[in-house]
Amino acid sequence: MDQYDLVIVGGGISGLTLAARAAYGNRLSILVLEKEQRVGGCLHTWRVEPGFWVELGAHTAYNSYKNLLQVLQERHGLDDLVERRKLGYRYLDGKRLQSPLARLGWFELLLNLPVGLARSRKQGASLADYYGALFGRRNYARLLSPAFAAVLSQPADGFPAQWLFRRKPRMKSAPRKYTWVSGLQGLAEAIAEDASFEVSSGAAVTAVRRVANSYEVTTDGRTLRCRYLAIATPADVAAHLLVQAHPEIATRLSTLPMADIESVAVVVPAERVRLPALAGLIGVNDAFYSVVSRDPLPHPKLRGFTFHFRPRRLDAEGKLDRICEVLGIGPEDIVERREVANRLPAPEVQHVELLAEIDEMIRDKTVFLTGNYFHGLSIGDCADRSTREALRLLKTHKQKEKHHA
Ligand SMILES: Cc1cc2nc3c(=O)[nH]c(=O)nc-3n(C[C@H](O)[C@H](O)[C@H](O)COP(=O)(O)OP(=O)(O)OC[C@H]3O[C@@H](n4cnc5c(N)ncnc54)[C@H](O)[C@@H]3O)c2cc1C
Repeated sequence: MDQYDLVIVGGGISGLTLAARAAYGNRLSILVLEKEQRVGGCLHTWRVEPGFWVELGAHTAYNSYKNLLQVLQERHGLDDLVERRKLGYRYLDGKRLQSPLARLGWFELLLNLPVGLARSRKQGASLADYYGALFGRRNYARLLSPAFAAVLSQPADGFPAQWLFRRKPRMKSAPRKYTWVSGLQGLAEAIAEDASFEVSSGAAVTAVRRVANSYEVTTDGRTLRCRYLAIATPADVAAHLLVQAHPEIATRLSTLPMADIESVAVVVPAERVRLPALAGLIGVNDAFYSVVSRDPLPHPKLRGFTFHFRPRRLDAEGKLDRICEVLGIGPEDIVERREVANRLPAPEVQHVELLAEIDEMIRDKTVFLTGNYFHGLSIGDCADRSTREALRLLKTHKQKEKHHA
């Protein structure tokens, strides 16, 4: 049976940054197990042809993602970051394209903002409560509710306000908004190239057992033993995998809701599309939350758009019709098309406490949990969480070594 100090389940950005952080000093043997043939998880780049790719999941990273940038800088350098051209988002209300300012009621804003600023606190408030108090209820419904749903790819009114737009220091040596030279998945691939840990792709973990002071991890074709176990999968998968080893954590984690997103990406000859160059569209009562364009990385001949549809609203034909309507094209104009099922956690205010409880439960254990469900969904939030768990791991390891000596 293969033995490692640390096995990490999940080769998304959370699992990979945890591996890179835990590998400092080369004191631990580390293996990352990833079920797909590629690493990256939600960093999922569809490479259509050399020099042209479309993001099927995450599309933008920021220079406030300091822990992520530090890992990249130390392991790979930042030369392959590519700045995204500054373009705006527009609302699509039926057939009407609108700028955010066109949807803002100034009078309502001025009426609410002074009292809102004085009284509202993000802590314990939902996005609707917090921003509704600042901007006014009508402004919230017209302007912010669809924008938050687009950012989070889910109905987001109940989402914890403290988990969005936290002020963080920026790394000024990186562009403010960027992607990777081969798309965001390339950023995950660059971290996975690290020689100080192993990555095994196409390795879906099916079971985890606690055996004496270690864990036994089973994939389709392999059983592994490790002293420390990290789960870096979506929350519901983590809950499922922990059922035998840590049932009390699994039970709590299984109550965290998940959101499905049906994403469809299309590539179209640039001259066929009627839409002006834009970063993306925000759907207003539409079948989609957002449309993400790759216009911030212009190409002379092609344009790419990913429609993030609400789940179970439209069948394949319905989606195609809506895509053609929005882009002002016919189905014959679509050069290529790709569909993926994306999933994200859908926490509400009451889940902040649940996750604090889970954190407390694992504090003195040799199991480590990371992912996009602890403090926020962004890539930066994932890297922050992984950094904290890596520090806890290295501290635990040091204490154990001292105890044995
Ligand atoms: C449509 C969309 C757009 C987004 N846009 C942005 C954006 O622009 N900027 C931003 O900062 N964030 C964005 N996000 C959020 C961000 O991309 C994700 O929250 C983050 O990448 C999640 O990383 P993760 O590693 O925690 O989870 P995941 O990316 O879900 O990775 C988990 C990994 O675990 C693997 N896995 C699952 N089960 C098993 C198993 N049994 N055995 C082995 N491996 C397993 C999966 O295959 C996957 O690779 C977006 C997300 C989505 C869905």
